[in-house]
Amino acid sequence: MNVLIIGGAGYIGSHVVREFLDHGHNVTVFDDLSSGLRENLFPEATFFHNTILEYPALLAACRGTSDTNGFDAVVHLAAFKAVGESMLQPEKYSLNNISGTINILNAMADTGIKYMVFSSSAAVFGQPQYIPLDEKHPLDPESYYGFTKLEIERIMGWYDNLKGIRFASLRYFNAAGYDARGRITGLEQNPTNLIPVIMETAVGMRKELTIFGNDYDTRDGTCVRDYIHVNDLSVAHAAALDYICKNNKSLKLNLGSETGATVLEILESARRITGRPIPSIFSGRRSGDPKALTASSKLAWELLGWKAELSDVDTIIRSTWEVYKRKGIKV
Ligand code: UDP
Repeated sequence: MNVLIIGGAGYIGSHVVREFLDHGHNVTVFDDLSSGLRENLFPEATFFHNTILEYPALLAACRGTSDTNGFDAVVHLAAFKAVGESMLQPEKYSLNNISGTINILNAMADTGIKYMVFSSSAAVFGQPQYIPLDEKHPLDPESYYGFTKLEIERIMGWYDNLKGIRFASLRYFNAAGYDARGRITGLEQNPTNLIPVIMETAVGMRKELTIFGNDYDTRDGTCVRDYIHVNDLSVAHAAALDYICKNNKSLKLNLGSETGATVLEILESARRITGRPIPSIFSGRRSGDPKALTASSKLAWELLGWKAELSDVDTIIRSTWEVYKRKGIKV
């Protein structure tokens, strides 16, 4: 298939691009490089450097070149994703995440592209009422970031009804790890997520890890999250696109490993695998953090035959360390 991957130079996007190339798809990447990196691009994929906020450029990209003769599908991963920032600068998230996606849907409608795989998030659920979270769990985002993802899911529902654009909305839990075959090595800039912060501490770019809260009602007092390897996530994107094309039906799926790890378990694995001390301190809880969040992957298994294969903590940490130990700068 001819697939346009928007946000394909980013951390998750580049892994998804690799997966689609491995499946023999003809891939074009569209990215504004605001957080994506040139070093994440593959020579086999055509690259458009532009923003989804520039409608004419986006429309031209969606039309494709004479080589591709248009696209069969879009994979959309271009969004801002910092939860804390979204509460301080909602305008930025309204514009890029919501308006940007409306541009993409309009360009798809204009150019006749019928399928879209969208990066959604567990943040659409808000505080869990039960775990593991299945797709029927109530939707009540706590952050403006989560709200943008939920709003986009609703808009995609309307474009499905009105324009026949079928979508797969994939609610990622905690995406982590690096390509198991070492083909992607771009480091996220100014990360706030736990595992890159731990890695930056391991290589000396940060003094210490601050652990947000150790008084939760969990097995060691720190929060439980469902870490899912980016290679597993990427496989799900390809399988979800197959599903919506074959069944001509949209889909919303939770993607996690069904198991949870605490902050201290992640840190212990990182200390063991890296052999570095990784100093840490405890601080107060981070606002809005639920004590535990894990995904049910039952529906993904039933519909796509998908389950996580590489998402055990040590595999995630080892694959991440492979990248950081080569590239981390000691300061
Ligand atoms: N966390 C932490 N210190 C950090 C970053 C994260 O203790 O510097 C904790 C955070 O409170 C949460 C878990 O690690 O319990 C995962 O956080 P992350 O921001 O990676 O993902 P989230 O679950 O918020 O999407």
